[in-house]
Amino acid sequence: MDKLEQVYEGKAKKVFKTDDPHYYIIEYKDEATAFDGKKKGIIQGKGTINNKVSAVFFELLEQKGIPTHFIKLLSPNEMLVKKVDIIPLEVIVRNYSAGSVSKRLGLEEGIKFDTPILEFSYKSDELGDPMVNDYHILALHLATKDEISTLTQQAFKINDILSSYLWEKNIILVDFKLEFGKTPEGDIVLADEISPDTCRFWDRTTMEKLDKDRFRRDMGNVEEAYIEVARRLGCL
Ligand code: UDP
Repeated sequence: MDKLEQVYEGKAKKVFKTDDPHYYIIEYKDEATAFDGKKKGIIQGKGTINNKVSAVFFELLEQKGIPTHFIKLLSPNEMLVKKVDIIPLEVIVRNYSAGSVSKRLGLEEGIKFDTPILEFSYKSDELGDPMVNDYHILALHLATKDEISTLTQQAFKINDILSSYLWEKNIILVDFKLEFGKTPEGDIVLADEISPDTCRFWDRTTMEKLDKDRFRRDMGNVEEAYIEVARRLGCL
């Protein structure tokens, strides 16, 4: 598959056309940002790790019946994916309090919710990805009612699959963000990435953070945490 012109560059990834209009190549970068791009840095080896970790999760999810954009790994930091139109929503699932929900609701970090929380944010860097509910989504035509229920059902299924898989690797899945896309045939598939950039992972024994919060909060051992996640998933 030939890598043709770049169609998009985001904060952590570049997207390229291929010689087949149905497929794109995603290249994962070592650049890291936080706080709507205000904090910038490099996490050495992140591109490779996020590419491989995402591939492990996408393959697991496909096996369990969740359609994704993932086709195959092409190189340490590139994957072949289906071309999709990204639905401009971030779908967030939370099993424990952390990050913005702790701040918004005045909750200390690490409280386990009896039932997982689902949130939608409108994908907009300028606006700082504001939280929206079903009514905003319908009124702004960001997705239809049927699409909202598909996103909701898929997000909870994905949470069950990933939480139990990670538990076995001695990792607690605290929260995570998903993005979905629409294929030219109109099917909704899981897209983007699933990695320590987009999930909170805590060690089940020590509660040590193994994710981007180490970068956000200048906690040190950022690279080591990403490597540890990849090691536990067997993709190093
Ligand atoms: N998240 C993400 N991209 C975003 C916002 C959030 O990947 O633009 C992930 C984040 O890594 C965490 C979860 O979604 O795993 C919930 O994030 P939260 O709303 O707590 O925001 P944050 O504290 O990251 O600002």
